Amino acid sequence: AIASLYALLVERAPSPDKPLLIRPDGRALSYGEAHALAGRLARVLADAGAVVGDRIAVRADKSPEALVLYLACLRGGFVFLPLNTAYTDDELAYLIGDADPRVIVCRPEDLAGLTPLGERAGAVVLTLAADGTGSLMERLAQQGEVLAPAELSPDALAAMLYTSGTTGKPKGAMLTQDNLAANGLALIEAWRFCDDDVLLHALPIFHAHGLFVACHTVMLAGGSVLWLPGFDKDTVLDLLPRATVFMGVPTFYTRLLGDDRLTAERVAGIRLFVSGSAPLLAETHRAFFERTGKAILERYGMTETGMNTSNPYDGERRPGAVGPALPGVSVRIVGEDGAALPEGAVGDVQVKGRNVMKGYWKLPEKTREEFTQEGWFKTGDVGRLDPDGYLVLVGRAKDLIISGGYNVYPKEVEDVIDALPGVIESAVIGVPHPDFGEVGVVLVTSRGGIDEAAILAHCKAHLANYKVPKKAFFTVDLPRNTMGKVQKALLRERYKGLFM
Ligand code: ATP
Ligand code: MG
Repeated sequence: AIASLYALLVERAPSPDKPLLIRPDGRALSYGEAHALAGRLARVLADAGAVVGDRIAVRADKSPEALVLYLACLRGGFVFLPLNTAYTDDELAYLIGDADPRVIVCRPEDLAGLTPLGERAGAVVLTLAADGTGSLMERLAQQGEVLAPAELSPDALAAMLYTSGTTGKPKGAMLTQDNLAANGLALIEAWRFCDDDVLLHALPIFHAHGLFVACHTVMLAGGSVLWLPGFDKDTVLDLLPRATVFMGVPTFYTRLLGDDRLTAERVAGIRLFVSGSAPLLAETHRAFFERTGKAILERYGMTETGMNTSNPYDGERRPGAVGPALPGVSVRIVGEDGAALPEGAVGDVQVKGRNVMKGYWKLPEKTREEFTQEGWFKTGDVGRLDPDGYLVLVGRAKDLIISGGYNVYPKEVEDVIDALPGVIESAVIGVPHPDFGEVGVVLVTSRGGIDEAAILAHCKAHLANYKVPKKAFFTVDLPRNTMGKVQKALLRERYKGLFM
């Protein structure tokens, strides 16, 4: 157990003049400056009425100030609640009503829309622009005093993040000091972070991947972050030679691969490429290795749990697998009756460990449903454990297709289709069907030179009949959310009338 995540970060911080964040133009924010600002900013939040345990909702563009705001929340014991910048007004209204924050920090252009929501929630609304201006920083400029770090129990909330909403309404995951600290410490060991590391940061910080996985690892090891406002391929390619670690969602990697400037020489100094948040195609893994000589390390996590499994730092990084459980995390596969399944069998993935959240915010029923009596968390993902403990995900339980009474795992079908020359990628979904209950339909993005008949014939040659999609459609792009996740729920909605 730990005193607080903030105390741990302070304890492990390098010398105060070491850069924490470095911007592409060379301007830097040192560890000392970041913590000094966080102390004053925590005081600003306290003066705005925040007390330990209050939510601070942040809907801001990515900026160094936004990260300092996160540190200020940790220091004050306030619960950092980042909100996706892509949310619509309706979604925001729902989430702010749900989260009941004490302070809302938003982009200046959102102020008019958020003021009434803030009033309803009894929250103070402050602004933070991408360039670091706005009323939050104006108050900071007036504030000479710091707030002392809060004394917290390991069980106190540090952050509340909403899930990505891939399978339904986003749920607020309550993450404690200990959840985040335990996971961060496990990752720096597993991935060998050290104070020489420079992480090229192009992910958003409203999500666990960019906020916790990327920032905690660096801060706990005393390294530096090359801080980008977002993913811009040209800038990333320019800066890769200055970094030692890069983390991304699979779409970052496919976009980089689409550019000839991605070469072994350019990434020679990168010791670690990490991918997660959505499945990395085995094909992408191989193509990246062929081009650069670097094997992308794929790991598996969730908002509710942080990171659960990771391919090894040393040893085989297996394409299509997410690796064994991280130290301190247990993973098991269970069948429909909830009993653990033997090695190799496909079933529901459950996890347990200090990394697993306290529960879903204001959803005690849902929380009870998603934990077993022995404290295993039901991830909603389906997979199998190979004999050497590597987890292979085959999809999400909600994406499973039951066709004529048989289970069809979309990933298995997608893998077969993706192996066809001409296919870039595919998404298999289940749609209602009068005879079979449900049948598979596939959406394909292609390089050309392939048609529906060829895809279906290839499936028939390689898959049992009930797994073969009834139709294939070509599309320019699969719909994805901001984390690069294919929105299958949306696709199911779009194609639900196909056979009915
Ligand atoms: P919601 O829970 O609201 O439907 P979500 O599950 O997409 O949304 P996140 O918590 O951001 O929200 O994502 C966690 C999910 O992302 C995991 O349950 C898993 O399905 C998927 N995921 C994460 N890493 C990987 C990976 N390496 N390979 C495949 N899937 C992954
Ligand atoms: Mg989820």
